[in-house]
Amino acid sequence: MRAARWRFAKGLHDIGNGIWAYLQPDGSWGWSNAGLIVDGDRTLLVDTLFDLKLTREMLETMRRSVAAAAHIQTLVNTHANGDHCYGNELVAGAEIVASEATAEQMNELPPAAFHQLVQTAGKLGRGGELIAELFRPFDFSDVTLTMPTRVFHGELRLKVGDKDVRLIEVGPAHTKGDTLVHVPGDRVIFTGDILFSEGTPIAWAGPVQNWIAACNKILDMDIDVVVPGHGSITDKAGVAAMRGYLQYVTDEARRRFDKGMTATEAAFDIALGPYVKWGNAERIVVTVDTLFADFSGEPRPFNPVPLFEQMAKMRDNLAHGSDEMSTVKGS
Ligand SMILES: [Zn+2]
Repeated sequence: MRAARWRFAKGLHDIGNGIWAYLQPDGSWGWSNAGLIVDGDRTLLVDTLFDLKLTREMLETMRRSVAAAAHIQTLVNTHANGDHCYGNELVAGAEIVASEATAEQMNELPPAAFHQLVQTAGKLGRGGELIAELFRPFDFSDVTLTMPTRVFHGELRLKVGDKDVRLIEVGPAHTKGDTLVHVPGDRVIFTGDILFSEGTPIAWAGPVQNWIAACNKILDMDIDVVVPGHGSITDKAGVAAMRGYLQYVTDEARRRFDKGMTATEAAFDIALGPYVKWGNAERIVVTVDTLFADFSGEPRPFNPVPLFEQMAKMRDNLAHGSDEMSTVKGS
């Protein structure tokens, strides 16, 4: 029975019939999931991890459990964030497939530039300090950008042995070229960061409406198991919850946009309600910033440091707020 409760433990999880998920708790910044699809001696890897050490450890774990994983023929990158593609060089020889928009975005923040940013971020005020703190556990010093060798637009059908695998581009949403990896015969989908399971989504690219549409597309599919880009394995309920968050934040942001608030004012003004329990609630800062760009129809320059500064403030507020809440509860 597929609908079993999945344990959110580090390592490889057998979903059945040649499909595995590799999970990295606690699923917060940079701690991403990957997947393996196997039929006979044919293999497809969904995403690599944030650095070489983590990716190497994952590939060794896969090889110990799954003989066919000794040779990965195909790698799919669901999107361009480094926690889904910086380990690509360790799967050299595989065909690396991504949407065209994902491949273009990979060039925008190559690992060497990201390494430089993390190394010097401490000097960039509170936002920079948060960048340094979040990404210090990872080592980007020796990562070589390894690009897709095959790109597509829209949809691409692949074969892994006899299994059909559908790549469905749903971006721009979280990033510019988000792609779902659907295995219809096994009723499984790997969503990349279109789903953070019980974690707060972050709309770097938008429009957020595209992300809500992507959730609806998944909810319309005949699937049992959903492997998110971060967090525990789930099912359609996890996708419905994410859609609920995105719609709620869209509605609340719109009201404040119409009142003439700035994006930052709006982000701090919106009550998170039950969503405050999701990890990394501070990401609402980025999503509201993107929503305001969506509403105004004007693209804004991508400048992460001020956004991280606001997220640092929000983290401080939330830590303070949750103390207050527990005091009230306890009294
Ligand atoms: Zn990610």
